[in-house]
Amino acid sequence: MSAPTHESTGTADPDEVREPPTGGAGAAPRLSDRYGRVATDLRVSLTDRCNLRCTYCMPEAGLPWLPKPTLLDDDEVVRLVGVAVELLGVREVRFTGGEPLLRPGLAGIIAAVAKLDPRPEISLTTNALGLDRLANTLVDAGLDRVNVSLDTLDPERFAALAKRDRLASTLRGLEAAAATGLAPVKVNTVLMRGVNDDEAPALLRFALEHGYQLRFIEQMPLDASGVWRREEMVTASEILGSLRKEFVLEPDPAHRGSAPAETWLVDGGPAKVGVIGSVTRPFCGDCDRTRLTADGQVRNCLFAQEETDLRSLVRAGADDEAIAERWQEAMWGKLPGHGIDDPSFLQPARPMSAIGG
Ligand code: SAM
Ligand code: SF4
Repeated sequence: MSAPTHESTGTADPDEVREPPTGGAGAAPRLSDRYGRVATDLRVSLTDRCNLRCTYCMPEAGLPWLPKPTLLDDDEVVRLVGVAVELLGVREVRFTGGEPLLRPGLAGIIAAVAKLDPRPEISLTTNALGLDRLANTLVDAGLDRVNVSLDTLDPERFAALAKRDRLASTLRGLEAAAATGLAPVKVNTVLMRGVNDDEAPALLRFALEHGYQLRFIEQMPLDASGVWRREEMVTASEILGSLRKEFVLEPDPAHRGSAPAETWLVDGGPAKVGVIGSVTRPFCGDCDRTRLTADGQVRNCLFAQEETDLRSLVRAGADDEAIAERWQEAMWGKLPGHGIDDPSFLQPARPMSAIGG
């Protein structure tokens, strides 16, 4: 296998342990951790509900949804994003879920976040169901980019995999996103052994034809049913091997930075394909993310066992500085790596759909 674009460190270096931020005069507060990483990329889950049931994410019967009174309302979401952006140095805000298009106030939330100073980059991760009707409104509100999840081009497989016969709707949403100025649209694909792992080249061909940027994501132990098995996961190496049967892939010379995807030039470029080897090629050492759940809990990692409750603080009347300080404390405790390979690894209690992927 060729060398990756940029050698990402699997975990943060434990020898690099820092002192807590002092907040001294002139020092802008940041979301730093004891290993020297700084979070500037905020993922906000707007709902734990979804209109699909992708097998690697949600059981067919759905889940016990978060009780409505525990959910942040639109103003609370905007207030917390404002604290992250205006006080804590967050520069990118991605709305996700569950399915964020199901949130009635999505356009209003985006419009309010677009007015923050400095204005963050605003993006959305979505299954694109209904995006054809919403894309214009969301772009007018301030949406900059979109990532669409698409695991197969076969309608029957889609229905088996997502338990809903909605491939055509996702494809319409994708086209609308590209036509509405959200290009280059990124497409996220999770491959599962014996389900869609033979489709990698076809999906790449489809993405190249439409000008979408395809990224394969290794399946992570974040499904609600706890059925993930490492030995059954389709690895980054297998994905690249399968693509190389039809395409020439060369490491992308562009600097990877904190991006989770290793990227490869396809057939000499400029088109690229990405592989996010979250499990076999972890990028925790370069992680710049912080997460806010739909019920107002900060998570410093997808795999964190602990959460920090900002909702209670907001509802108790705390001022922005107090909220910012609690957020900083939450990030300071971030572990150096996700530890999936550690025998003591425990899958988080919340599944991906309730954390926000
Ligand atoms: N519903 C939206 C969607 O599907 O794009 C946003 C939420 S979804 C949880 C966000 C991303 O997480 C999707 O790209 C999905 O494929 C990915 N995802 C969900 N469960 C996963 C798992 N167990 N391992 C890897 N990726 C997963
Ligand atoms: Fe829904 Fe996204 Fe999970 Fe699929 S991956 S069930 S679309 S939240």
